[in-house]
Amino acid sequence: MSYQVTLKPSEHTFTVEENEFILDAALRQGIAFPYQCKTGSCATCLGNVTSGKVHYPDGLPLTIMEHEHEQGKAVFCVSVAKSDLELKVNEIDSSSDVQIKTLPARVNSLKRLADDVMEMTLKLPASESMNFYAGQYLEFIMRDKSRRAFSIANSPSNEEYLELHLRQVPDGIFTNHVFDSMKEKAMVRIEGPFGNFYIRDTSNRPLIMIAGGTGFAPIKSILEKLIEEGDTRPVEIYWGARAKADLYRNDLPEKWALQFEHINYIPVLSEAKDEDNWEGRTGFVHEAVVEDISDISHYDIYMAGPPIMINSAKAKFSEQGLPVDQLYSDSFEYAGAL
Ligand SMILES: Cc1cc2nc3c(=O)[nH]c(=O)nc-3n(C[C@H](O)[C@H](O)[C@H](O)COP(=O)(O)OP(=O)(O)OC[C@H]3O[C@@H](n4cnc5c(N)ncnc54)[C@H](O)[C@@H]3O)c2cc1C
Repeated sequence: MSYQVTLKPSEHTFTVEENEFILDAALRQGIAFPYQCKTGSCATCLGNVTSGKVHYPDGLPLTIMEHEHEQGKAVFCVSVAKSDLELKVNEIDSSSDVQIKTLPARVNSLKRLADDVMEMTLKLPASESMNFYAGQYLEFIMRDKSRRAFSIANSPSNEEYLELHLRQVPDGIFTNHVFDSMKEKAMVRIEGPFGNFYIRDTSNRPLIMIAGGTGFAPIKSILEKLIEEGDTRPVEIYWGARAKADLYRNDLPEKWALQFEHINYIPVLSEAKDEDNWEGRTGFVHEAVVEDISDISHYDIYMAGPPIMINSAKAKFSEQGLPVDQLYSDSFEYAGAL
């Protein structure tokens, strides 16, 4: 038995077999469905069921609350159809000029921003460009074909180079190479852009942008784009790091907050050192957000950083009533697999 699925507003249709995950069926039939984790945990494939019934064979995933399920919200990577369906999803715009490319690139500059953070800029061959949405990432392709993901830190309007912020991972093959032996002008192979972590223009809600460590990279890209476009949605930037030196470009959000009335910046340290003489906020960054903002359900939240921060923040924000479709996140999972 198979069911017919119609997507709104595009009117694209596809069929889904009984017990086949809806996302799998869509991808099998060439539909540009947004997705990332395929395990029900990131909510990238979240949408609305406007007609028909879906079922979760392994139970409701943590990303969807019972009342949201009842309102018709669904994640399609772990749900199956129980009838013909009409779904509302943000399909990826396949007509856009953002295309995934594999390219050689030259390391244009390497600059230490902190003991364990390197800013790298990459230059593409003169005839090439990589269009991307602010917040997306690229992958380095290693000699053994394994890949390492890093978020692009500059605004897409900067066509001169791609900026990355790389944190050195203990025993990390690629990041140790970058920190210990890579030289400017080295050639690398990259592929991208990837990812669904980019600003949605469909809401007028104020924004909360949360960075953990080098999670500042995609947040910087998004903010630079918003500033360039003269977007005046109120933005609360929270940057969580261990000690003061880990806020490796603290000058930038400080400058934005001084320059623009609609931008506010709150750095939060979890392990401030004595010599930091820190008088600012301390503790976990997501805790600071809920201490400061009594009703987060009025906001769209974008956050990027280590998985532990993303998972704790997701649980906390959901508890505080943030609808799942107002939260966008990029978890810096270890992604070195082939
Ligand atoms: C979408 C995405 C975007 C990312 N963006 C950035 C970014 O902008 N800046 C940035 O610094 N990092 C980012 N990361 C993380 C980055 O991809 C990894 O840290 C990197 O692949 C490490 O490569 P390596 O060769 O040095 O380590 P490997 O040699 O591959 O790993 C060495 C050891 O460290 C562990 N390990 C590796 N990476 C991590 C990690 N991130 N957390 C915990 N343990 C790890 C491995 O399990 C292994 O045991 C991103 C990850 C993803 C998935």
